[in-house]
Amino acid sequence: MKAHATVVNCPTCGKPVEWRPENHFRPFCSERCKQIDLGAWANEEYRVPVQEDPANTPENDDAT
Ligand SMILES: [Zn+2]
Repeated sequence: MKAHATVVNCPTCGKPVEWRPENHFRPFCSERCKQIDLGAWANEEYRVPVQEDPANTPENDDAT
């Protein structure tokens, strides 16, 4: 009897990927898919909030 490998689907392209220790890109099928997913995450999920220009706020008014 041989142990069957766990198979997951690549989150980027949906391709079946064997979950093995030597697969450094799991759950992705390849480095490319991993990079694509990280890029999407960085762009859409972890958007840096827009900072307002401090020089443009009323608090910088001359308060004397
Ligand atoms: Zn893939």
